[in-house]
Amino acid sequence: MSVLELRDISVRYGGIVAVHGVSLTVETGEVVALLGANGAGKSSLLNGVAGLIRGTRGSVVLDGRDIGREAAYRRARAGLLQVPEGRAIVGSLTVEENLLLGAYTRRGRAARDASLRAAYDLFPVLRDRRDVGGAMLSGGEQQMLAVGRALAGAPRCVVMDEPSVGLSPLMIETVFARVRSMADTGVGILLAEQNVPASLAIADRVYVLQRGEVVRSGTATEIEADDAIMQAFLGVGANDVGS
Ligand code: ATP
Repeated sequence: MSVLELRDISVRYGGIVAVHGVSLTVETGEVVALLGANGAGKSSLLNGVAGLIRGTRGSVVLDGRDIGREAAYRRARAGLLQVPEGRAIVGSLTVEENLLLGAYTRRGRAARDASLRAAYDLFPVLRDRRDVGGAMLSGGEQQMLAVGRALAGAPRCVVMDEPSVGLSPLMIETVFARVRSMADTGVGILLAEQNVPASLAIADRVYVLQRGEVVRSGTATEIEADDAIMQAFLGVGANDVGS
C-alpha cells in the first residue's frame, strides 16, 4: 500500500484551474520528484493536498485513509506534513522552539525528546545552533530547520515545496542528501522542484507537471535518460545533468 495516493486532484482559484486531474503515488521510503516549470501548478497541488486551498477536489489517501476532506491540522496530525515554500520558520523563536512547534502533535516528554533528537541527528548543525534565533540562521540553516521541523512531527509523508530556492549549489547538495536519508528511514517524500539535476540525483521516481497536468512519469533513471522529456518539458540539455 502506498503511503500517499493522490486521485484525480484538481485545484481551482475561482475560475482559474491550476491543477487538473492529477493522480500519483508515493511509496514508503521513496523520494518522488514533482518537476515542472514556474507556474506548472506544483505549489497549488502541494498546498491543496495539505488542505490549504478551498477549491481542491479529489482524494488524498494517506496510509489507506482518505483525508482529502479534513482540515489541514488533521491532515498534519495524520502524518502528512509540509515543508512550505519560503520555509516559514519563526524568526523570533530559537531553533529548538521551532522544532518543538513541529513536534506539537507528539504526546509526552519522551516523544518530544525523540523528535528533537531525530531532527538534530539529521542536521547536527542545528544542535550546535539550538539556542539561536531563527532569524539569525543562514538560508541553508533555515531550510534545514524547515525540514527538521517536519521530521520532528514524526511524519508518514512530507511534501516539500522547492527547498533548493535561494541555496548555494553546495548547500543544495547537503540538504538534498539529508532529504534522501530521511526517506531512507521510511518516510515518503513528495518533492516539488524546478532544480531538475538536484532532484534527479535523489529521486526514485518522477512526475512531470505541465499546465496543471501530469504529462510524463517514470523512474528517475528513465526520465534522466530521455532527452526529449528533459528538453521539451524540463528545459534541461543532456549535458546539464550530473555536472
Ligand atoms: P512556482 O514555481 O512559481 O511556485 P508552481 O508550479 O508552483 O510555480 P503554482 O504557483 O501552483 O505553480 O501556479 C499554478 C497556476 O495557478 C499559475 O497559473 C498561477 O498563476 C495560478 N495561481 C497560483 N496561486 C494563485 C492564486 N492564489 N490565485 C489565483 N491564481 C493562482
